[in-house]
Amino acid sequence: MSKESQGRELRFVIIGAGMAGILSAIKLREAGFQNVTIYEKAARIGGTWRENTYPGLTCDVPSHSYTYSFAPNPDWSQIMPPGGEIQRYFEGIVADYRVDNIAFNQEVIRCEFDGDRWQLETAAGIKDSADFVIAATGVLHHPRWPDIKGADSFAGALFHSAQWDHAVPLEGKRIGIIGNGSTGVQIVSELAPRAAKLCHFQRTPQWIMPIENRPFTNEEKQALRSDPALLHQVQNDPTLNASIERFSEAIVDPDSDAMHEIETLVIGNLDNSVSDPVLREKLRPDYRVACKRLIFSTDYYEKVQHPNAELVVEGIECIEPAGVRTKDGRLIELDVIVFATGFHADQFMRPMNVTGRNGTLLNEVWTPKPTAYMAISIPEFPNLFMLNGPNGPVGNFSLIEIAEQQWHYISQLIDKVASGECRHIAATREALEAFDKARISAAKTTVFGSGCQSWYLDAEGVPATWPWSRARFAEEMQAPKLDAFEML
Ligand code: NAP
Repeated sequence: MSKESQGRELRFVIIGAGMAGILSAIKLREAGFQNVTIYEKAARIGGTWRENTYPGLTCDVPSHSYTYSFAPNPDWSQIMPPGGEIQRYFEGIVADYRVDNIAFNQEVIRCEFDGDRWQLETAAGIKDSADFVIAATGVLHHPRWPDIKGADSFAGALFHSAQWDHAVPLEGKRIGIIGNGSTGVQIVSELAPRAAKLCHFQRTPQWIMPIENRPFTNEEKQALRSDPALLHQVQNDPTLNASIERFSEAIVDPDSDAMHEIETLVIGNLDNSVSDPVLREKLRPDYRVACKRLIFSTDYYEKVQHPNAELVVEGIECIEPAGVRTKDGRLIELDVIVFATGFHADQFMRPMNVTGRNGTLLNEVWTPKPTAYMAISIPEFPNLFMLNGPNGPVGNFSLIEIAEQQWHYISQLIDKVASGECRHIAATREALEAFDKARISAAKTTVFGSGCQSWYLDAEGVPATWPWSRARFAEEMQAPKLDAFEML
């Protein structure tokens, strides 16, 4: 049965058919809303997991935590799930939950509030209108191309890690990986034994947290299949939850015991894993552990010491037809160059043109930096809610868990309209200002603000992520404080 408000059926547009968009579609249907369309710019669902297909792609959040709470999966193959398996999980969910209201190859380019409803337009020319817009557009989806001279002149294959060219042969080739974030480290671990030579170009060293990633045995998977209570227990593992909670405490308070424990583990990992003292010092960062997003890896140190691998720290002067010329004048000849150089993390739903009440332009509101009350709602943009929007908790946590908590919060805002209490709802300017003031002041004392460059920092150098504990986020997401919202 379809839900109505004030005699009309509410219409929802969800933008993006990745993890958060699929979640929104399932939850809206569950709540009785039938008039829902997801606009997806690509030809398939999956978001990040569709776009990223690089060799070695693995989620560094344990599989059973990187799973919708309502759709446990006894068949995860290993502790940390490979990217392709996550993509198949989401495809299975879309089929099982009959999420069939997706318009593919439809990039929303305009989203305008006309005083009552949202008017939308796609690049292919479809026009639509809706009472609610759910922006589930992801965070890291605009590849960052580095400004390196001569990149166009390279005679071999060159591409960004998020646009992997699978037609390019890798076995026995000379490969250069530029960048050593989570992506570059995973690619190096996978390709070092397969390449004739693999050069890892490191501009800034990274701290590496050692992890275990073993396959689940057939017996373990069978046990999970046959015992839903056990599956539930694994998915809500109290030991894992406690350690994630402790990690979040460490981020918030870099002088805590929790942080000292992490530092001991991570520094010990470097000291004990790299035998050559010169290489070890090249790999040693001069900033605090977890200031940049902490990299979790089973074997990066082992693979960067592989006979085929070389860590290059001299800095890149330029790219030439034959390879990379370093600042000390050496030419490193290569067949393939990969830019594992990250993403523009401040775009969110942009470059879409979003216009709120009275012609308010999102691009202007978000200059110099994006912000949203509780990472969800923007004043003057009524009935538009974001999942994984600016200032949410993004560091080393399960974004699925976060999106589910955010949905719980958003659903209560939607209910205010569905119940007829109001027609439009958005955070007030005062609420956003107070939230931002407290958030920015707290962010500066987190480990992310302790003195390093990272994609967590906004245009003013302040960490843009949720600066409080994971527990506080969960508590805030329980119920919106309605005095922070304008209901008209
Ligand atoms: P990233 O963390 O932003 O790292 C970009 C890398 O490129 C850095 O090492 C950076 O060096 C380097 N770089 C950028 N421009 C350069 C230039 N002009 N010359 C040389 N080096 C340059 O990007 P990412 O590795 O793609 O990871 C982004 C995020 O994606 C991660 O933090 C994580 O949230 C997510 N991710 C998650 C997983 C997972 O397992 N869950 C896996 C992959 C990615 P500097 O440090 O010097 O700036």
